[in-house]
Amino acid sequence: MSPANAASNTAKWQSQDSAHHLHPFTNPQDLLDKPARVIESAEGVYLTDSEGNRLLDMMAGLWCVNMGYGRPELIEAVERQIRQLPYYNLFFKTSTPPAAELSQLLAEVAPAHVNHTFFTNSGSEANDTVLRMIWRYWDLLGKPEKRIVISRKNAYHGSTIAASSLGGMADMHKQGGVIPNIVHVDQPYWYEQRVTLGRDLDRDEFGRQAAQSIADKIEALGADRVAAFIAEPIQGAGGVIVPPDSYWPEVSRICEHYGILLVADEVICGFGRTGEWFGTDYYDLTPDFMPIAKGLSSGYLPIGGVMVADRVSEVLVHQGGEFNHGFTYSGHPVCAAAAIANVNLMRQTGIVDTVRDSTAPYLQKRLRELGEHPLVGEVRGAGLLGALELVEDKAGFVRFDKDRRVGIRCRDICFDNNLVMRSVGDSMVISPPLVIETADIDVFVERAWKCLDLTQKAIA
Ligand SMILES: *Cc1c(COP(=O)(O)O)cnc(C)c1O
Repeated sequence: MSPANAASNTAKWQSQDSAHHLHPFTNPQDLLDKPARVIESAEGVYLTDSEGNRLLDMMAGLWCVNMGYGRPELIEAVERQIRQLPYYNLFFKTSTPPAAELSQLLAEVAPAHVNHTFFTNSGSEANDTVLRMIWRYWDLLGKPEKRIVISRKNAYHGSTIAASSLGGMADMHKQGGVIPNIVHVDQPYWYEQRVTLGRDLDRDEFGRQAAQSIADKIEALGADRVAAFIAEPIQGAGGVIVPPDSYWPEVSRICEHYGILLVADEVICGFGRTGEWFGTDYYDLTPDFMPIAKGLSSGYLPIGGVMVADRVSEVLVHQGGEFNHGFTYSGHPVCAAAAIANVNLMRQTGIVDTVRDSTAPYLQKRLRELGEHPLVGEVRGAGLLGALELVEDKAGFVRFDKDRRVGIRCRDICFDNNLVMRSVGDSMVISPPLVIETADIDVFVERAWKCLDLTQKAIA
């Protein structure tokens, strides 16, 4: 396409967009100042915008395009399925080949004690479903007073009313409220307590204290009223918060001790992100529920689900009657076909081992080099997840004033320099496609260092 054509197409899309499109998680005023960048195509780990710029996508879309863009295996599976059967539902004692096959495939890759899946269209719907299943489980066991779910501040579990209530995002709660029977405890965010409270606890001691806050909450509420604890193995949208090693073993012990269900939200950590199939494998957890989405289909089509442990599915299947819940598009055959092709491709390519043995260690090592930059107060990460937290005074543990929006400025500078890194507050986070290669990681480090320099100049 000629540059003149590209410019006129870009102008057309931008004016359509600003006239008619209400964007998710966007301040509309920002778009009045500068219209949206239009992403038009993509291949591998690179995006191409409507002006022909090539951007390195260190966010895999939104933590989801795990197998990279343009995979013929997925595209052809979708095309075959849409011709064969574009839609049928799973209600009223019917199934479809893709839904049946995918449920079997998921049982194969999941931890041994997890063998059933309820399908949804997104991670938010998966967490809505989890809440209904938790309540139903305790009802069926004759304990309807077990109703309260404990979650964590700054958690992200989606954006429907139930999912955002389960989440711990204060800005979302301000606009949407929190439904009853959901409470929040502290997150295991070591650097946060270091900079805000000026404490200097050993990481593992801090991890044990964060876990203890769950036990304290259970004691305060009464274990007979607490139904479940929900958490992401590693908090993603909250800023890639990797818990201290002491945290999860203690949390598992507490859930077991008080007889409350454990929900491991695998929407980001699932499907290879940590270098294991699930975050649950990475931390050796035995959750009762695993909400999944994102990497399940590498984002090619919307599909999510709740994977259910045997001890829960036995109750739901053998002691329950009808579960009055479902979505028109639960387990949509074309979306399920994309997921099957994706999981098969993951297995055939051995991508999870490649991440664990090769690309994750390399990324984590090179990320720590970026930690030498004067703006970077802390580097965090595990697997192919990472964060660089930008601070005003590194040695003194002082953050920037929020109003300076340093993270957003850095993100915009990255975008202008053909690098997609996302900002969460002043943390710059990454979650690249699992198929990223070491040469792409080198490109990332070079561009990121330059963008950190430019950010430092811009805020001086
Ligand atoms: C993205 C996300 C969700 C919500 O998924 P949607 O598909 O956007 O509804 C839920 N949990 C976690 C951990 C997520 O990262």
